Amino acid sequence: MNMDDADMNTALMVDGNAVAGQLMDVFGRDMTIAVARCAGCTREAEMGALMAFTRGPGVVLRCPACEAAIARIVETPTAIYVEARGASFLRLPR
Ligand SMILES: [Zn+2]
Repeated sequence: MNMDDADMNTALMVDGNAVAGQLMDVFGRDMTIAVARCAGCTREAEMGALMAFTRGPGVVLRCPACEAAIARIVETPTAIYVEARGASFLRLPR
């Protein structure tokens, strides 16, 4: 990756709080305080603190430590797809 790529990635990245509304639509609760453990590096982070890439056809949430993709959300006219194989678990407070 050269500097131009790094700059562009930074420009496209926001934090998980930027997708709080979409997460609320999908899960029906505030997910920004839910904790995700990265399946790659085992770092735990609140979903609001994950790196969010929102300019693609869907949303990609990445680990702030190792940048692995933790979850992807794609909405179609008839369904919402959630893929979270990059997370060992999501921990939701009661
Ligand atoms: Zn990680």
